Amino acid sequence: MSDVIKLNKLPERVILPLKQHDGIACAPLVKKGDEVHLGQKLGDCKGSELAYIHSPYCGNVVAVEARPAPGGKSVLSVVLEPVECTEAPEFVPEKEAPPSRLMEIIEAAGIVEYYEKPTYKILKPGPLIDTLILNATFPLITRAYLPFLDKVLEGFQLMLEAGGISKGVIVLRADDKESIQAFKKASLNGKPLPVAPIIGKRHADYYFEDTDSDLIALVAGKKTYTPTMMNLLSADVMGRSLPLGYKPEDVHLSICGVKSAKAVYDAIKEGKPYLENAVTITGAVNNPKSLFVRFGTPVKDVIEACGGYRGEPGKLIINGSMGGVAVYTDEVPIVKNTTGIVVQAKEEVLRDEAMPCIHCARCVDACPVNLLPGRIAVMADCGMYEKCGEYYALSCIECGECAAVCPAKRHLVQLIRYSKLQLQKMNEAKNAEVIE
Ligand code: SF4
Ligand code: SF4
Repeated sequence: MSDVIKLNKLPERVILPLKQHDGIACAPLVKKGDEVHLGQKLGDCKGSELAYIHSPYCGNVVAVEARPAPGGKSVLSVVLEPVECTEAPEFVPEKEAPPSRLMEIIEAAGIVEYYEKPTYKILKPGPLIDTLILNATFPLITRAYLPFLDKVLEGFQLMLEAGGISKGVIVLRADDKESIQAFKKASLNGKPLPVAPIIGKRHADYYFEDTDSDLIALVAGKKTYTPTMMNLLSADVMGRSLPLGYKPEDVHLSICGVKSAKAVYDAIKEGKPYLENAVTITGAVNNPKSLFVRFGTPVKDVIEACGGYRGEPGKLIINGSMGGVAVYTDEVPIVKNTTGIVVQAKEEVLRDEAMPCIHCARCVDACPVNLLPGRIAVMADCGMYEKCGEYYALSCIECGECAAVCPAKRHLVQLIRYSKLQLQKMNEAKNAEVIE
């Protein structure tokens, strides 16, 4: 197991978007000319879903202005000129915090899930949660945290305690042998952590009946459950299938990432706010690897730490080639939900012309949630978004299986994703009308 190094070189500029979660943007607490110290709160939020922004660097504020963010939009950001910290900040740990205080610490630390929800919100979303699932099916990310596995496990237990959740399930990929071995060697309160495979209908509850541990690790298939696949994860691991339009919390489940468990440990046991993530850099760079990167560090500095681009860059995709977002500049920063960067060289970028559909139905056979991808895509292309909704476009998990098999090279995922965005906008507009 090789340790993942931390990117320590100071970038020329640090860009901290004041919105790094699914909620209302934070208001800046600093202005141009201010000096900031490591861990200082830079943004204050209001609303029901909060994720405060803290500074991962010491430095001087050179601007508070809109800058491109990884999601594709311009977001009001605090821009810093970082400097080496001359004094270590005094983080105040609360090692013996009572359960009633844990949630406040997690909220104050600004921890955000890989699917953009603030972590404190998913621990007590409203409906009672009986099981917290830790999604460790991103092998490169999981492996980056293996040197801190004891902290990840302790952080996960603290999350259960904070949310009053009775059981925890860690889900691993079947082909991630390194992580499976590490979890098999791990201990929990002095006992080995139970690790078992999911076989047929033996879901987590089957194994809980067999053990006195309220925390187990399960080895699932060779699938990475991306943010759009949470319902599938709930069904595969817990056997709790979700009707269309429902969320895991509706069947008493919540899902968190490995990085959050480590961040919760850091917040409670070391007093640190959420300042960095492990990020995997793959594709057309000279030295692909995983690095711990502080938020606000521009992607170009991360690429440079990987030996620079290999060949002429064609496309930069944040958070994976299947469900990620292509960005038009490497000046965008690493933010709280950034877990990976994929670089495609110019010659690798698919530029196939889409042809008319030949009605072969291969996309229908490939779709794991039984949609009609070709038909939804045609309707999306014609602007018939309500019809897309009637054909359950919102249930698309953006896995890309349909596009991968389409002989006509149709841009199925992009079209379906666009229809989902339009449907969400239409729903928001309807809800706003109801409130008025
Ligand atoms: S991306 Fe395609 S295959 Fe995957 S769920 Fe959506 S429509 Fe189905
Ligand atoms: S796979 Fe492509 S060509 Fe075949 S039905 Fe689907 S969209 Fe049409």
